[in-house]
Amino acid sequence: EARIFSDYYVIEFLGSGGYGTVYKAQHKIDECEYAIKRIEYPCKESEQEKVLQEARTLASLDHSGIVRYYYSWFDTLNADEHEELNKLCYGIDSYECSDSSEKIVDDIICSKYLFISMELCEKETLKHWLENNCGSRSRNIIMNWFRQMTEALQYIHAKDYIHKDLKPSNIYFSLEGKIKMGDFGFKSCTVSTYEPNKLYMAPELVILNYLFIVSFPYFILLKANDEPYSSKVDIFSIGLILFEMLYPIKTAHEKEQVFKNVKNGVFPTYFEENHPRDCEFIRSLLSTFAQDRPTASQILHDNVFEEISFDDYVTCEEGLS
Ligand code: ATP
Ligand code: MG
Ligand code: MG
Repeated sequence: EARIFSDYYVIEFLGSGGYGTVYKAQHKIDECEYAIKRIEYPCKESEQEKVLQEARTLASLDHSGIVRYYYSWFDTLNADEHEELNKLCYGIDSYECSDSSEKIVDDIICSKYLFISMELCEKETLKHWLENNCGSRSRNIIMNWFRQMTEALQYIHAKDYIHKDLKPSNIYFSLEGKIKMGDFGFKSCTVSTYEPNKLYMAPELVILNYLFIVSFPYFILLKANDEPYSSKVDIFSIGLILFEMLYPIKTAHEKEQVFKNVKNGVFPTYFEENHPRDCEFIRSLLSTFAQDRPTASQILHDNVFEEISFDDYVTCEEGLS
Protein backbone atom coordinates (compact mmCIF):
# COMPACT_ATOMS: atom_id res chain seq x y z
CA GLU A 1 0.00 0.00 0.00
CA ALA A 2 1.26 3.46 -0.87
CA ARG A 3 2.33 5.48 2.13
CA ILE A 4 -0.02 8.33 1.31
CA PHE A 5 -2.83 5.85 2.09
CA SER A 6 -1.22 3.76 4.80
CA ASP A 7 0.00 6.71 6.86
CA TYR A 8 -2.51 9.41 5.97
CA TYR A 9 -6.18 10.02 5.38
CA VAL A 10 -6.26 11.84 2.07
CA ILE A 11 -8.85 14.57 2.56
CA GLU A 12 -8.99 16.64 -0.60
CA PHE A 13 -7.30 17.75 -3.75
CA LEU A 14 -5.71 21.18 -3.30
CA GLY A 15 -4.41 22.00 -6.73
CA SER A 16 -2.01 21.11 -9.45
CA GLY A 17 0.60 22.83 -11.54
CA GLY A 18 3.08 22.04 -14.24
CA TYR A 19 4.77 19.38 -12.15
CA GLY A 20 2.73 18.07 -9.33
CA THR A 21 -0.62 17.41 -7.80
CA VAL A 22 -1.15 18.53 -4.24
CA TYR A 23 -3.45 16.92 -1.68
CA LYS A 24 -4.54 17.80 1.80
CA ALA A 25 -4.03 14.82 4.09
CA GLN A 26 -4.20 14.07 7.79
CA HIS A 27 -1.46 11.97 9.30
CA LYS A 28 -2.97 8.97 11.08
CA ILE A 29 -0.63 9.12 14.05
CA ASP A 30 0.02 12.80 14.74
CA GLU A 31 -3.45 13.81 13.45
CA CYS A 32 -2.02 16.98 11.88
CA GLU A 33 -2.99 18.09 8.42
CA TYR A 34 -0.39 18.43 5.69
CA ALA A 35 -0.12 19.38 2.06
CA ILE A 36 1.34 16.45 0.16
CA LYS A 37 2.71 17.07 -3.28
CA ARG A 38 2.96 14.18 -5.71
CA ILE A 39 5.51 14.67 -8.47
CA GLU A 40 6.05 12.21 -11.29
CA TYR A 41 9.58 10.93 -11.01
CA PRO A 42 11.14 11.15 -14.45
CA CYS A 43 13.08 8.29 -16.01
CA LYS A 44 15.91 10.49 -17.28
CA GLU A 45 18.65 11.00 -14.76
CA SER A 46 19.18 14.67 -15.60
CA GLU A 47 15.48 15.30 -15.03
CA GLN A 48 15.48 13.35 -11.79
CA GLU A 49 18.03 15.75 -10.36
CA LYS A 50 15.69 18.68 -10.95
CA VAL A 51 12.84 16.98 -9.17
CA LEU A 52 15.00 16.06 -6.20
CA GLN A 53 16.21 19.63 -6.03
CA GLU A 54 12.74 20.78 -5.09
CA ALA A 55 12.66 18.55 -2.01
CA ARG A 56 16.28 19.26 -1.09
CA THR A 57 15.89 22.98 -1.38
CA LEU A 58 12.68 23.11 0.58
CA ALA A 59 14.24 20.91 3.26
CA SER A 60 17.17 23.27 3.70
CA LEU A 61 15.00 26.33 4.20
CA ASP A 62 13.71 27.23 7.64
CA HIS A 63 11.90 30.55 7.68
CA SER A 64 8.44 31.70 8.72
CA GLY A 65 7.90 33.20 5.26
CA ILE A 66 8.59 29.93 3.45
CA VAL A 67 6.34 26.88 3.25
CA ARG A 68 7.72 24.43 5.81
CA TYR A 69 9.02 21.11 4.52
CA TYR A 70 8.48 17.95 6.58
CA TYR A 71 9.39 14.77 4.77
CA SER A 72 9.65 13.16 1.37
CA TRP A 73 9.52 9.64 0.00
CA PHE A 74 9.33 7.65 -3.19
CA ASP A 75 6.36 5.49 -3.96
CA THR A 76 4.51 3.66 -6.67
CA LEU A 77 0.76 3.55 -6.93
CA ASN A 78 -1.36 0.62 -8.00
CA ALA A 79 -4.37 1.12 -10.24
CA ASP A 80 -6.80 1.47 -7.34
CA GLU A 81 -4.63 3.99 -5.61
CA HIS A 82 -4.31 6.00 -8.79
CA GLU A 83 -8.04 5.94 -9.20
CA GLU A 84 -8.56 7.00 -5.62
CA LEU A 85 -6.27 10.03 -5.94
CA ASN A 86 -7.64 11.00 -9.31
CA LYS A 87 -11.23 10.76 -8.13
CA LEU A 88 -10.43 13.59 -5.77
CA CYS A 89 -9.54 15.99 -8.56
CA TYR A 90 -12.38 15.15 -10.86
CA GLY A 91 -15.47 17.23 -10.49
CA ILE A 92 -13.52 20.21 -9.30
CA ASP A 93 -14.09 22.72 -12.03
CA SER A 94 -11.89 25.53 -10.90
CA TYR A 95 -8.80 23.37 -10.70
CA GLU A 96 -7.39 21.17 -13.34
CA CYS A 97 -5.84 17.87 -12.51
CA SER A 98 -2.77 17.43 -14.64
CA ASP A 99 -3.03 13.64 -14.72
CA SER A 100 -5.01 12.31 -17.63
CA SER A 101 -6.43 8.84 -17.10
CA GLU A 102 -5.16 7.51 -20.44
CA LYS A 103 -1.66 8.46 -19.50
CA ILE A 104 -1.97 6.63 -16.21
CA VAL A 105 -2.86 3.37 -17.92
CA ASP A 106 0.24 3.75 -20.07
CA ASP A 107 2.62 4.49 -17.27
CA ILE A 108 1.09 2.28 -14.69
CA ILE A 109 3.88 -0.23 -14.36
CA CYS A 110 6.91 2.01 -14.25
CA SER A 111 5.41 5.10 -12.66
CA LYS A 112 7.31 6.21 -9.65
CA TYR A 113 6.45 9.29 -7.67
CA LEU A 114 8.19 11.59 -5.32
CA PHE A 115 5.93 12.66 -2.48
CA ILE A 116 6.74 15.77 -0.48
CA SER A 117 4.87 16.53 2.70
CA MET A 118 4.83 20.14 3.71
CA GLU A 119 3.02 22.72 5.73
CA LEU A 120 -0.63 23.05 4.79
CA CYS A 121 -1.44 26.52 3.55
CA GLU A 122 -4.59 28.05 2.15
CA LYS A 123 -5.15 26.54 -1.26
CA GLU A 124 -6.04 29.97 -2.57
CA THR A 125 -2.78 31.65 -3.48
CA LEU A 126 -2.05 35.33 -4.02
CA LYS A 127 -3.14 34.77 -7.62
CA HIS A 128 -6.65 33.91 -6.43
CA TRP A 129 -6.63 36.85 -4.06
CA LEU A 130 -5.72 39.26 -6.85
CA GLU A 131 -8.50 37.88 -9.03
CA ASN A 132 -11.11 38.00 -6.29
CA ASN A 133 -10.21 41.38 -4.81
CA CYS A 134 -10.49 43.90 -7.57
CA GLY A 135 -12.40 46.35 -5.43
CA SER A 136 -10.95 48.18 -2.48
CA ARG A 137 -7.55 46.91 -1.34
CA SER A 138 -5.82 47.98 1.84
CA ARG A 139 -2.42 49.41 1.09
CA ASN A 140 -1.49 48.69 4.66
CA ILE A 141 -2.09 44.96 4.21
CA ILE A 142 -0.35 44.93 0.84
CA MET A 143 2.80 46.60 2.16
CA ASN A 144 2.75 44.20 5.07
CA TRP A 145 2.62 41.23 2.70
CA PHE A 146 5.30 42.77 0.55
CA ARG A 147 7.54 43.13 3.57
CA GLN A 148 6.99 39.46 4.46
CA MET A 149 7.88 38.44 0.90
CA THR A 150 11.01 40.54 1.00
CA GLU A 151 12.05 39.05 4.35
CA ALA A 152 11.66 35.54 2.94
CA LEU A 153 13.65 36.57 -0.11
CA GLN A 154 16.41 38.07 2.02
CA TYR A 155 16.69 34.71 3.77
CA ILE A 156 16.70 32.71 0.52
CA HIS A 157 19.30 34.95 -1.10
CA ALA A 158 21.51 34.85 1.98
CA LYS A 159 21.55 31.08 1.48
CA ASP A 160 22.62 31.62 -2.12
CA TYR A 161 19.40 30.37 -3.62
CA ILE A 162 17.50 32.14 -6.37
CA HIS A 163 13.81 31.34 -6.65
CA LYS A 164 13.54 32.30 -10.35
CA ASP A 165 9.83 31.58 -10.54
CA LEU A 166 8.21 34.14 -8.28
CA LYS A 167 4.68 34.89 -9.35
CA PRO A 168 1.39 35.27 -7.50
CA SER A 169 0.49 31.57 -7.89
CA ASN A 170 3.63 30.65 -5.95
CA ILE A 171 2.86 32.97 -3.05
CA TYR A 172 0.78 31.14 -0.46
CA PHE A 173 -0.96 32.19 2.74
CA SER A 174 -0.63 30.26 5.98
CA LEU A 175 -3.87 29.30 7.69
CA GLU A 176 -3.20 32.35 9.93
CA GLY A 177 -2.93 34.64 6.91
CA LYS A 178 0.85 35.03 6.85
CA ILE A 179 2.70 35.08 3.54
CA LYS A 180 4.45 31.81 2.63
CA MET A 181 6.71 31.56 -0.35
CA GLY A 182 6.42 28.20 -1.99
CA ASP A 183 6.98 26.04 -5.02
CA PHE A 184 10.73 25.78 -5.07
CA GLY A 185 10.61 23.74 -8.20
CA PHE A 186 13.44 26.02 -9.33
CA LYS A 187 12.63 25.19 -12.86
CA SER A 188 15.90 25.75 -14.50
CA CYS A 189 15.10 28.82 -16.55
CA THR A 190 15.78 26.82 -19.65
CA VAL A 191 13.85 23.59 -19.16
CA SER A 192 12.81 23.04 -22.74
CA THR A 193 9.58 21.23 -22.00
CA TYR A 194 8.38 23.99 -19.76
CA GLU A 195 6.93 27.23 -21.06
CA PRO A 196 7.94 29.70 -18.40
CA ASN A 197 5.67 32.49 -17.33
CA LYS A 198 7.58 35.37 -18.84
CA LEU A 199 5.19 37.93 -17.41
CA TYR A 200 7.06 38.15 -14.11
CA MET A 201 10.47 37.31 -15.46
CA ALA A 202 13.43 39.70 -15.31
CA PRO A 203 14.63 40.82 -18.76
CA GLU A 204 17.99 39.03 -18.39
CA LEU A 205 16.16 35.72 -17.80
CA VAL A 206 13.84 36.33 -20.73
CA ILE A 207 16.87 36.90 -22.96
CA LEU A 208 18.54 33.78 -21.63
CA ASN A 209 15.45 31.76 -22.42
CA TYR A 210 15.35 33.18 -25.89
CA LEU A 211 19.03 32.44 -26.47
CA PHE A 212 18.51 28.88 -25.37
CA ILE A 213 15.76 28.40 -27.90
CA VAL A 214 17.44 30.03 -30.91
CA SER A 215 21.03 29.15 -30.24
CA PHE A 216 21.82 26.14 -28.15
CA PRO A 217 25.64 26.23 -28.62
CA TYR A 218 25.81 29.86 -27.61
CA PHE A 219 23.89 29.04 -24.49
CA ILE A 220 26.50 26.46 -23.54
CA LEU A 221 29.14 29.18 -23.85
CA LEU A 222 27.13 31.41 -21.58
CA LYS A 223 26.80 28.65 -19.04
CA ALA A 224 30.54 28.08 -19.12
CA ASN A 225 31.05 31.58 -17.82
CA ASP A 226 29.44 32.77 -14.68
CA GLU A 227 25.66 32.49 -14.40
CA PRO A 228 24.47 35.47 -16.42
CA TYR A 229 21.82 36.31 -13.84
CA SER A 230 21.69 36.83 -10.11
CA SER A 231 19.33 37.00 -7.16
CA LYS A 232 18.18 40.30 -8.66
CA VAL A 233 15.87 38.35 -10.98
CA ASP A 234 13.69 37.71 -7.91
CA ILE A 235 13.70 41.42 -7.04
CA PHE A 236 12.30 42.18 -10.47
CA SER A 237 9.51 39.65 -9.96
CA ILE A 238 8.45 40.95 -6.56
CA GLY A 239 8.51 44.47 -8.01
CA LEU A 240 5.86 43.45 -10.49
CA ILE A 241 3.94 41.54 -7.84
CA LEU A 242 3.92 44.66 -5.65
CA PHE A 243 2.61 46.74 -8.53
CA GLU A 244 -0.09 44.17 -9.29
CA MET A 245 -1.19 44.19 -5.66
CA LEU A 246 -1.39 47.98 -5.60
CA TYR A 247 -3.08 48.35 -8.96
CA PRO A 248 -6.16 46.17 -9.48
CA ILE A 249 -6.37 44.85 -13.02
CA LYS A 250 -9.45 43.07 -14.27
CA THR A 251 -8.59 41.37 -17.53
CA ALA A 252 -5.63 39.40 -18.82
CA HIS A 253 -5.49 41.68 -21.82
CA GLU A 254 -5.29 44.83 -19.71
CA LYS A 255 -2.66 43.16 -17.55
CA GLU A 256 -0.47 42.42 -20.53
CA GLN A 257 -0.65 46.05 -21.69
CA VAL A 258 -0.14 47.62 -18.30
CA PHE A 259 2.72 45.26 -17.39
CA LYS A 260 4.48 46.02 -20.63
CA ASN A 261 4.37 49.74 -19.89
CA VAL A 262 5.33 49.36 -16.26
CA LYS A 263 8.36 47.26 -17.21
CA ASN A 264 9.40 50.27 -19.29
CA GLY A 265 8.90 52.57 -16.32
CA VAL A 266 5.58 53.98 -17.56
CA PHE A 267 2.83 53.75 -14.93
CA PRO A 268 -0.87 54.37 -15.46
CA THR A 269 -1.37 58.15 -15.11
CA TYR A 270 -3.81 58.02 -12.21
CA PHE A 271 -1.52 55.67 -10.29
CA GLU A 272 1.57 57.80 -10.94
CA GLU A 273 -0.23 60.95 -9.76
CA ASN A 274 -1.58 59.39 -6.60
CA HIS A 275 1.32 57.15 -5.67
CA PRO A 276 4.47 58.89 -6.94
CA ARG A 277 6.60 57.43 -4.16
CA ASP A 278 5.40 53.87 -4.88
CA CYS A 279 6.09 54.36 -8.58
CA GLU A 280 9.61 55.54 -7.91
CA PHE A 281 10.18 52.57 -5.63
CA ILE A 282 8.73 49.98 -8.03
CA ARG A 283 10.71 51.54 -10.87
CA SER A 284 13.92 50.84 -8.98
CA LEU A 285 12.90 47.18 -8.46
CA LEU A 286 12.18 46.88 -12.18
CA SER A 287 15.44 48.46 -13.35
CA THR A 288 16.54 46.94 -16.64
CA PHE A 289 20.05 46.52 -15.31
CA ALA A 290 20.08 44.03 -12.49
CA GLN A 291 22.79 45.91 -10.61
CA ASP A 292 20.49 48.95 -10.33
CA ARG A 293 17.86 46.95 -8.45
CA PRO A 294 18.08 47.03 -4.67
CA THR A 295 18.82 43.85 -2.73
CA ALA A 296 16.17 42.39 -0.43
CA SER A 297 18.06 43.82 2.57
CA GLN A 298 18.11 47.27 0.99
CA ILE A 299 14.38 47.08 0.32
CA LEU A 300 13.73 46.33 3.98
CA HIS A 301 15.44 49.61 4.89
CA ASP A 302 13.46 51.64 2.37
CA ASN A 303 11.13 54.27 3.78
CA VAL A 304 8.36 52.99 1.52
CA PHE A 305 7.23 50.98 4.54
CA GLU A 306 7.07 54.04 6.75
CA GLU A 307 4.39 55.75 4.75
CA ILE A 308 1.67 53.34 5.73
CA SER A 309 -1.38 54.93 7.25
CA PHE A 310 -4.39 53.02 8.41
CA ASP A 311 -7.09 54.31 6.09
CA ASP A 312 -4.96 54.03 3.01
CA TYR A 313 -6.89 52.15 0.35
CA VAL A 314 -6.26 51.44 -3.29
CA THR A 315 -9.48 50.97 -5.16
CA CYS A 316 -10.71 49.61 -8.40
CA GLU A 317 -11.72 53.12 -9.54
CA GLU A 318 -8.07 54.03 -9.43
CA GLY A 319 -7.24 50.89 -11.28
CA LEU A 320 -9.72 51.61 -14.00
CA SER A 321 -8.87 55.22 -14.74
P1 ATP B 1 4.12 25.19 -10.99
O1 ATP B 1 3.72 24.92 -12.38
O2 ATP B 1 3.70 26.55 -10.51
O3 ATP B 1 5.54 24.89 -10.66
P2 ATP B 1 3.60 22.91 -9.35
O4 ATP B 1 3.22 21.71 -10.15
O5 ATP B 1 5.01 22.99 -8.85
O6 ATP B 1 3.22 24.21 -10.13
P3 ATP B 1 2.50 23.99 -6.99
O7 ATP B 1 2.47 25.37 -7.56
O8 ATP B 1 3.50 23.72 -5.94
O9 ATP B 1 2.62 22.92 -8.14
O10 ATP B 1 1.07 23.61 -6.42
C1 ATP B 1 -0.09 23.55 -7.22
C2 ATP B 1 -1.30 24.02 -6.42
O11 ATP B 1 -1.48 23.19 -5.26
C3 ATP B 1 -1.17 25.42 -5.88
O12 ATP B 1 -1.63 26.38 -6.79
C4 ATP B 1 -2.05 25.39 -4.63
O13 ATP B 1 -3.40 25.61 -4.96
C5 ATP B 1 -1.88 23.97 -4.14
N1 ATP B 1 -0.82 23.88 -3.11
C6 ATP B 1 0.50 23.66 -3.31
N2 ATP B 1 1.18 23.63 -2.17
C7 ATP B 1 0.28 23.86 -1.18
C8 ATP B 1 0.35 23.96 0.25
N3 ATP B 1 1.51 23.83 0.90
N4 ATP B 1 -0.80 24.19 0.93
C9 ATP B 1 -1.97 24.34 0.27
N5 ATP B 1 -2.12 24.26 -1.06
C10 ATP B 1 -1.01 24.02 -1.79
MG1 MG C 1 3.27 26.83 -8.62
MG1 MG D 1 6.66 24.08 -9.18
